[in-house]
Amino acid sequence: MNEKEKGITIYCGSSAGRDPRYAEAAAIVGCEIARRGLPLIYGGGSMGLMGVAGRACREAGGTTCAIIPEFMVERGWNDPHSTHTIRTSGMHERKTMMAAKAIGAIAMPGGVGTFEELMELITWRQLGLYSGNIVILNIAHYYDSLLNQIDDAVKEGFLPADHLRLFAVTENPAVAVALASAENADLNLQRKF
Ligand code: AMP
Repeated sequence: MNEKEKGITIYCGSSAGRDPRYAEAAAIVGCEIARRGLPLIYGGGSMGLMGVAGRACREAGGTTCAIIPEFMVERGWNDPHSTHTIRTSGMHERKTMMAAKAIGAIAMPGGVGTFEELMELITWRQLGLYSGNIVILNIAHYYDSLLNQIDDAVKEGFLPADHLRLFAVTENPAVAVALASAENADLNLQRKF
């Protein structure tokens, strides 16, 4: 893979979650990224939604680029079937590279690791350090509480309302990939201002 080649970065759980709709959505995201001929950039784990999306992408003829810290590879957490693997010295280098390679990024359901990655990317976009698209894939209303918290930040004067345009929200995995790949995805589906 060309060092500068960009694709769609996904952030998602290293677990699959309880509701089967999470894994179904992750598989659709993987297939849709492959269908668009873009590389899928991910954390490179073999488990959970990460593993599901990566496998689905490759099975649909696409390529995956795992960006994973050396210590995780040593623990055997990386997916050995990823088309490309980039080993990083640690988490910070990994996240910087995942953002640098993103035309757009999609956050799917996940745990604290996914929350952290999503919040950091929105913060970077707020600061002008990241200019790609950011899409929250709100499968089965998983992110409703987080979105309510963000709305509270606006109501309480901690976040300018127009910063809600920094990210899009959709419940449709194919739409999430379309928005992440778009030249200008500055539209915020299903959000009131
Ligand atoms: P979480 O949402 O808490 O499951 O964490 C997802 C993120 O945590 C990933 O993108 C990675 O940064 C990291 N992570 C946690 N466990 C693993 C794993 N087994 N393999 C790869 N990355 C992992």
